[in-house]
Amino acid sequence: MQSWLPIAADSDFTIHNLPFGIFSTDQHTRRAGIAIGDQIVDLCKLCQEGYFADLRFDSWVVNKDNLNHFIALGKKTTNAVRERVQQWLCDPASPLKHYPDTLVPMAAATLHLPVRIGDYTDFYSSIEHATNVGKMFRDPANALLPNWRHLPVGYHGRASSIVPSGVPIRRPQGQVMPNGASAPVFQASSRLDFELETGFIIGKANELGSPVPISEAADHIFGMVLFNDWSARDIQKWEYVPLGPFLGKSFASSMSPWIVTMEALQPFRVAGPVQDPPVLPYLAFKGHQNYDIGLEVIIRTPDGTENVVSRSNFRYMYWNMLQQLAHHTVNGCNLQVGDLLASGTISGHDESAYGSMLEIAWSGSKPLTLKDGSTRTFINDHDTVIMRGAAEKGAIRVGFGEVAAEVLPALG
Ligand code: CA
Repeated sequence: MQSWLPIAADSDFTIHNLPFGIFSTDQHTRRAGIAIGDQIVDLCKLCQEGYFADLRFDSWVVNKDNLNHFIALGKKTTNAVRERVQQWLCDPASPLKHYPDTLVPMAAATLHLPVRIGDYTDFYSSIEHATNVGKMFRDPANALLPNWRHLPVGYHGRASSIVPSGVPIRRPQGQVMPNGASAPVFQASSRLDFELETGFIIGKANELGSPVPISEAADHIFGMVLFNDWSARDIQKWEYVPLGPFLGKSFASSMSPWIVTMEALQPFRVAGPVQDPPVLPYLAFKGHQNYDIGLEVIIRTPDGTENVVSRSNFRYMYWNMLQQLAHHTVNGCNLQVGDLLASGTISGHDESAYGSMLEIAWSGSKPLTLKDGSTRTFINDHDTVIMRGAAEKGAIRVGFGEVAAEVLPALG
């Protein structure tokens, strides 16, 4: 497959990818688009010109500030749109080539959150991450809690504070219990951390009271994004027993703007880790359900230099997305189109693949030296944390772009 449009060899947005997003420009209100190279295909314009008329959806569906209604049309329609754009980008006689205003330079566009997220759930599905955290906070000999290998542990997060890449993050303040102190103090978090995660977007709802069997779970997943689940470790540590994360997580999470479809990710399916003990039948799946997606975390210091601090891979996940979805709905909980289910921190086997500063600097005990000579145990004010991800196999490259955010000083 070859496009007539020039696409850089290292572009994340190749002809094989074609992710969906929401963009605006000085001339265009927020609307749906597909990324290709350094351009955006304006789906609203194409729809208004009648190029999707046979697919029988109204143009308002792609002329909105979120993709929820478009995604809710179902994969039959959304895949047809994506495949048609793919054909047009390869066919020199296509409308995209002859109506240049259907392509918008990405550099001239603002990218927004692609969906209205009704609910956000965060899992804890990397065995390496859960083991590292268990070793630091509990018992090194029994790092995993007894439930961990039997179910994908998760919690309900905060959807309202999810922001798109580029929006700065304000360092949170809150209650912390200093080591050795007898009473908590109120202060700006001194242990602000990132969590390297991916998330998937629900593409098909289930009714309240109707679990999604794992054999049908793939039908309910529209696509994936990169996700930085910002965490204030000192606030988290003091508050999290017994009900789990609260203010240490809910101040902000950052999300990449392009939703990479599951169709684009099919070439990168791989086997996951062996699950031992065997899972209960409702969590038993068939085939290869992990994905080989290379991930990296960069700290950009205020002088502009980029320091790669982690190289991990989504393939390491113990629990896969089908299991997370089947588990989430097994009690009858209804998921809605646009909901976000995040993976949990994605750590690999060794230190170079750890997905949080908590692990990389081992709870502050192993400071990291950056190119500008400064050291980090957590994230400083005016650092920018950038996460990038891409899958590659032979000549096929499918990337996520990036999720980036600068940390601003705390209020007061
Ligand atoms: Ca998390």
